[in-house]
Amino acid sequence: MNHAGEQGTLYVISAPSGAGKTSLVAEMLRQDARLGVSISHTTRPMREGEQDGVNYHFVDRGEFEAMIARGDFLEHADVFGNYYGTSQVWVRETLAKGQDVILEIDWQGAEQVRRLIPECVGIFIVPPSEQILRERLVGRGTDAPEVIERRLAEAEEECRHAIEFDYLVVNDDFEQALSELLCIVRTQRLSMANQRVRHEGLLAELSGRR
Ligand code: GDP
Ligand code: ADP
Ligand code: 5GP
Repeated sequence: MNHAGEQGTLYVISAPSGAGKTSLVAEMLRQDARLGVSISHTTRPMREGEQDGVNYHFVDRGEFEAMIARGDFLEHADVFGNYYGTSQVWVRETLAKGQDVILEIDWQGAEQVRRLIPECVGIFIVPPSEQILRERLVGRGTDAPEVIERRLAEAEEECRHAIEFDYLVVNDDFEQALSELLCIVRTQRLSMANQRVRHEGLLAELSGRR
């Protein structure tokens, strides 16, 4: 359903680590075939259960720095002592095909993307409390205790940037948060900026312009 000139919408989703961003985005993709997610490059070690090319493209610091030098990244940042970055080419090509793209990135990356692509839609996800954030990080069972402490310490800095985003979703009940996220996507598709391109012919006919 791609009309000539119709660009996909870019969604930038940020959240403190453990808020549920990855689980929610995975479910959004299952329920909406027009959404795609960018697979970031990272230098952090692979967690048990993760796969190279599925969760992330796992690279070492040398490779990452070479990619920075080549200008391969739309944005990149140091998060919790590791590099994370978004592929420039994949994002631009996918949007040009008319497909919507989600970036799951930190606030530093979001700031860079907002500057480059001002029409992007920012969504910030928070847990219902600090205590629950801790319980989710511990319960996920993927990170060492000192890694969890570092992520909790940096959660406050991440949350100080929440107001820079267009939408705020509280992930208390998973299904409710999911339906709110899907609602944001539907609302965005109904915006005049998108609909006027999609329904150009109809608007012209009804306005007596052809
Ligand atoms: P999780 O959020 O707890 O699942 O932890 P991850 O290790 O997957 O991600 C760590 C941090 O890196 C998060 O704050 C992400 O938002 C951020 N991040 C992931 N991918 C990217 C990216 O491509 N660019 C930027 N700037 N940040 C990223
Ligand atoms: P993030 O990508 O933001 O770090 P995850 O998607 O990995 O977060 O979620 C962190 C943990 O919390 C996971 O174990 C996930 O299953 C769990 N979780 C996510 N959302 C909820 C929720 N609404 N209620 C209870 N547990 C949740
Ligand atoms: P994790 O290491 O738990 O997978 O991710 C930690 C954080 O890194 C997440 O909060 C995530 O948003 C951020 N992150 C993941 N990929 C990217 C990326 O490509 N760019 C930026 N800036 N942040 C990222």
